[in-house]
Amino acid sequence: MSDTRPSDTRPSDTRPFEVLETGVMFWAGRDPGETIEEMKALGVRCGQLALPGDLDLSCAPAWKEALQAADFTVYTVFATFQGESYADKPTVYETVGFIPPATRAERERRTCRVSDFAAVIGAPAIATHVGCVPDDDTSADHIAVREMVRRICDHAETHGQKFALETGQETAPVLLDFMLGVNRPNLGINFDPANLILYGTGDPIEALGLLGEHVLTVHCKDGDWPPADQPNALGTERPLGHGSVGMERFLRQLLKMGYRGPLAVEREAQDPAERLRDLASGIELLRKLKAELL
Ligand code: MG
Repeated sequence: MSDTRPSDTRPSDTRPFEVLETGVMFWAGRDPGETIEEMKALGVRCGQLALPGDLDLSCAPAWKEALQAADFTVYTVFATFQGESYADKPTVYETVGFIPPATRAERERRTCRVSDFAAVIGAPAIATHVGCVPDDDTSADHIAVREMVRRICDHAETHGQKFALETGQETAPVLLDFMLGVNRPNLGINFDPANLILYGTGDPIEALGLLGEHVLTVHCKDGDWPPADQPNALGTERPLGHGSVGMERFLRQLLKMGYRGPLAVEREAQDPAERLRDLASGIELLRKLKAELL
């Protein structure tokens, strides 16, 4: 276990964050300055920036300048890829992350370029959904993806970055075994409790307990389980506090295991106004819970 333990560079250890400081998961694609101001208006000063798969990454210097001007910290840059679809479970398995063989090489190059983007803006970590890792560690796909993650870890290491795997598309024991197999000290987890519910891969609090020491950063997202009679369906994402995660028990477990890093509120609603409104209510919920717990 010691080989894959995150070292002492969780964001909370290297940046002037408060304990469990609230941040947001937000997307690039529009004017950087306007996007950051929209997030700051929610009352936060940090977040995780997701890059659409078709984004021209030459905008990195503009993001750097806008972040500095606004005194806003991006502590993780998320890679996403062209051609990914989250329509239902079979489509996720076929299109998301590093699992589809046909796009593997292209997505490896893209992830390394995202790491370069993160270096330009000074972010200490990158992250992505690697997709649904096959649990058979002798399968060709498992071995190929393990090698790919090693190479990306090594590229990220040249920038002094962590590489965080997003949870949820496989069970926590499978993800843990995969991580241990990769065996790179800068590999960790971005823990999203809602994803385990949406994919039906396990109780998030139990999973958090298992992955605990590898958790670099977390998403605060909520959702309900898939319908029991539809095996291919995903669950339904909900505004924070309105799904099945139980944000109070999630924060209690984070504190119990010693996590003090930031909390990124994530909302996937497609309508921008709805997303902003739900981010604001999620931030408010965390403020109330932290006032009780800290
Ligand atoms: Mg997430």
